[in-house]
Amino acid sequence: MIKICSLFSGSSGNCIFISYNNTSILIDAGVSGRRIENALKSIGESFDNIAGIFITHEHSDHISGAGILSRRHKIPIFANTETWDAMRPFMGKLDSGNIRYIEPGETKTIGDVSVKPFPIPHDAACPVGYNIFIEDKKLTIATDIGHMNDLLLANLEKSDMILLESNHDIEMLMTGRYPWPLKQRILSDHGHLCNEMAGKVVAHLAQCGTKRFLLGHLSQENNFPELAYRTVCNALLEKNITPMKDVYLEVAMRDRASNVMYINTGA
Ligand SMILES: [Zn+2]
Ligand SMILES: [Zn+2]
Repeated sequence: MIKICSLFSGSSGNCIFISYNNTSILIDAGVSGRRIENALKSIGESFDNIAGIFITHEHSDHISGAGILSRRHKIPIFANTETWDAMRPFMGKLDSGNIRYIEPGETKTIGDVSVKPFPIPHDAACPVGYNIFIEDKKLTIATDIGHMNDLLLANLEKSDMILLESNHDIEMLMTGRYPWPLKQRILSDHGHLCNEMAGKVVAHLAQCGTKRFLLGHLSQENNFPELAYRTVCNALLEKNITPMKDVYLEVAMRDRASNVMYINTGA
């Protein structure tokens, strides 16, 4: 059985746990090492089985705990060449054996878990989302997305579970107190995905067969969980898909673990 949990999700820090048989991985480690250790403990897990931390991009909300966790628990960190170049100065001293490379489009298999990064449009050196393949199942992590395009959508389709960004409500952002340049950055093609677009994408993916959705990377300033949830629910209902009947939908919170999700392989 595959076990998945979003430990932290949001502009204040991201970390996702995925495990199968004796192999566990983290995607991103963007809050303190101590908080990630405690969050893992809260879902009955420890670092003993963590085989690697896969980094999506070098922004601090994705890497701030990675260096310390790698040192403390002797865990390899996987990222592409450009991301390593960009984040290396913020990582502290790392054991050279724990600096591992995985380039977009390349698949790395650890135990029964295969991980494949795909490019995403975001203002970082070489940002990626991840497909995780376990037996016949496909899981997708896709946050920090400036806009959606067909190529990206193809990487998301046919996932059994997806954690998708639902960053902001455009109206809250526009009327909020962020300075204009920051608003422009978030709204740009290399910024973040809004609730409305997340709704469209979720509805499309649900029509293509995806049954489990986690909405993540919510902005603290320009969104709130109920609004993201409601916006995506409405997009689903427009396509005659009923949330929590036809598909599972949950908002991944910034400061606590999501519900633990289990997916049976071979079913
Ligand atoms: Zn981020
Ligand atoms: Zn980012």
